[in-house]
Amino acid sequence: MYSTRKVVGMLAGPERGTAFWATNIGNEYGQVLMSVITAAEGHGLASMAEGIMTRYRQAGVDIPPVLYVDRDCCGTSSVQNLCYCWQDINIRLDIWHFMRRISGVCSTDSHPLYGLLMNHLSRCIFKWDNGDLELLNTAKRQELGQKLMHPQTDADLEKFISKNELALHCRRTTRGSNETTTTDLIYNMLKRYQDAKDSLGVPLLRSTIMQSVWEKQKHHIACIQDPPCVQLYIQTGALKKGDTTLPTYRCARGSTSLESFHLHLARFIPGTLANEILFQAYLVEGLSRWNQNRGDNAVSVAKDEPHCYSQQLRHEVNRLSADVLGKNLLPSYSTPRKYTGELIGLDYLLSHTGKALQYASFIEKSEETEIPDLPDDTELVTENTDDLTSEALAAATLLEEENRPVSLEETRPILPILSEKVYQALANESVQSDPIVCPVTSEQMKRPSPVRRMQPSTANKESVQSDPIVCPATSEQMKRHAPVLRMQPSKAYIES
Ligand SMILES: [Zn+2]
Repeated sequence: MYSTRKVVGMLAGPERGTAFWATNIGNEYGQVLMSVITAAEGHGLASMAEGIMTRYRQAGVDIPPVLYVDRDCCGTSSVQNLCYCWQDINIRLDIWHFMRRISGVCSTDSHPLYGLLMNHLSRCIFKWDNGDLELLNTAKRQELGQKLMHPQTDADLEKFISKNELALHCRRTTRGSNETTTTDLIYNMLKRYQDAKDSLGVPLLRSTIMQSVWEKQKHHIACIQDPPCVQLYIQTGALKKGDTTLPTYRCARGSTSLESFHLHLARFIPGTLANEILFQAYLVEGLSRWNQNRGDNAVSVAKDEPHCYSQQLRHEVNRLSADVLGKNLLPSYSTPRKYTGELIGLDYLLSHTGKALQYASFIEKSEETEIPDLPDDTELVTENTDDLTSEALAAATLLEEENRPVSLEETRPILPILSEKVYQALANESVQSDPIVCPVTSEQMKRPSPVRRMQPSTANKESVQSDPIVCPATSEQMKRHAPVLRMQPSKAYIES
């Protein structure tokens, strides 16, 4: 369960200013079980919790073993009080939120040492599964060997292993609250960074508040530990790397999936503002699309199955195909359950003030007004499953090497500004076959090496290939009568 303020500012009309938080609950597959708008964070969520518990009961589904929250993990106002029917549930604080609270002692998150601190903080909390790590090392060594690269030591090899590869192929667990290790490790690490400064002498930590922040947050160390006997990883498949087959995992720990959902939430509403009815409609439609995509990913829908977001249409297609053909054309479709009466989005907020959304009058009004058709929004809602708490293995090596100040130049590469000469050289280059170029330095321009190109994504590869970006020809080129590139109309345009 996680709250955000990203979308509430887009509400227009008389209710503008009454909505402050959007609270969402997701499941282990990344689907959003409920999204409500409230007037305050953590306030008035009892009916939402009641609705979720009733839905689980009616569906005959086991209660979830763990609930990750961004606040109220323990103490008198704990979320446990809301879930009074689920006595056995473990309430845990999302680890990324815990790390953000600790990082509150930093002077700024753009400090050159900030990333290193977060890497070490993550390492103080988690430990990797040794078996998974060894398997990945073996596979990586084989993969590099095929490219004639042979790292001598494990430390050298770790530099080639990315954060994403670690998160995909290796499982990890928290170090446990019984051991005093996590508390000691974090405190010692903070002490070690206490005097860390960048090359300009700016300290990383605000030592005046460090102690008070730590005293407050150390009580939550127990709240971030993995609950015992709960399987947080699901194997989603396998990948071949070198000669080794590596399993791929999806982690259900924390609210990473909801973080990703919140990034998309504001994009559900086109433009900058929407009145109550439109706000609600866009929100519900976005939720439906999001959940359908996550559901399809969870059950690995056949790629040749027709894709459609309209549940009503999918229902009818299956009903008719069963009548005529004797089989379902959309086997992944499951009939929705009966509406439980739970209130979603703005309906939830208004119910607390005794108001309701006036759908009928809005429809009546909109029928009188002619609204131009908008183009279909066919963009697929994709989920970013990056785990924000992941650390890079190479960071450990940096720790050993450190005590040297990290200069700004090392951590923040500055993009080179091209000189006028380079631009001239660019203009005189032949652009007949490679109109999309991305030069970096004048040195690279001189070398006859292959030109670096921007790689179009696979989704729009075709359209990019047929629609080259055309550089304006110089006066020199005009004189040479070289074949001039022309704007190619897109395929879609030709067809229409
Ligand atoms: Zn706590």
